[in-house]
Amino acid sequence: MTTIPSPLFDVRGRVALVTGSSRGIGSVLARGLAQAGARVAINGRDPQAVADTCAMLEKSGCDVCAAAFDVTSPDGVAAGIDRIEEWVGPIDILVNNAGIQRRAHFTEFTDQDWTDLLASNLTSAFLVGRRVAASMERRGSGKVINIGSVQSMLGRPGIAAYAATKGAIAMLTKGMCADLAPRGIQVNSIAPGYFATELTQALVDDPEFSRWVQQRTPAGRWGRVEDLVGALLFLASPASDFVNGQVIYVDGGMTAVV
Ligand code: NDP
Repeated sequence: MTTIPSPLFDVRGRVALVTGSSRGIGSVLARGLAQAGARVAINGRDPQAVADTCAMLEKSGCDVCAAAFDVTSPDGVAAGIDRIEEWVGPIDILVNNAGIQRRAHFTEFTDQDWTDLLASNLTSAFLVGRRVAASMERRGSGKVINIGSVQSMLGRPGIAAYAATKGAIAMLTKGMCADLAPRGIQVNSIAPGYFATELTQALVDDPEFSRWVQQRTPAGRWGRVEDLVGALLFLASPASDFVNGQVIYVDGGMTAVV
């Protein structure tokens, strides 16, 4: 008889790294994995914010460790991941989540903002992904989840550079799948719609824009960060072992309708 693994979305005992998990979406994704039994490394550039998030999660019984490093720095990434591996062993689940936003009209966009966006949102996923996937390849298994955006599919004024990084994340996901699937690794992406976090604070504070999000989203509301956890547990667990190179939009239907 066919055996369906039980529990299906099992991540117990798995080691996970969620980049950019000191606040916002990353902190809730980290909590979702930890509550499901994974041991999770919490990351961000600010060591105090990382320590505070770890303390908060530990209070609710989560197994977490602090891994403060800058995901745009090749040396920082290498040292940070070495430390995690020394602490709990090799990483089974990588969530490339760290990212920033900069808004400006296209012709007024500065060189510095362009460089920062590419480094934070795209090069980071390459640097961390390459280092972690090399170790996953040696073990013949692993799950990589890259956090994209509906902005990889929809143009909006003022965020051409951000959209370019998220479009690239979708293609990085497919390219990584092509190289890594034969080595037993699944690489997929979650593309969130609009969620209220520090990154979108200016939009949340703009009543007209906030109304537009509600009207443009068939579900009629902004995303709640916990809405992303189900898709994450699916992609991080054996339930998705034959799902590879896919982008899952968690957006209340925004990209499904015009
Ligand atoms: P936040 O600004 O709330 O959090 C960003 C996190 O990333 C923080 O923990 C921040 O910590 C960390 N971070 C930023 N740069 C670096 C770096 N160089 N090295 C290490 N950590 C870093 O953003 P969100 O939670 O909203 O966004 C998370 C991800 O989700 C991003 O990739 C974003 O593009 C994506 N997303 C968000 C949406 C939304 O509506 N909020 C919609 C679609 C996608 P610190 O600053 O201390 O380093």
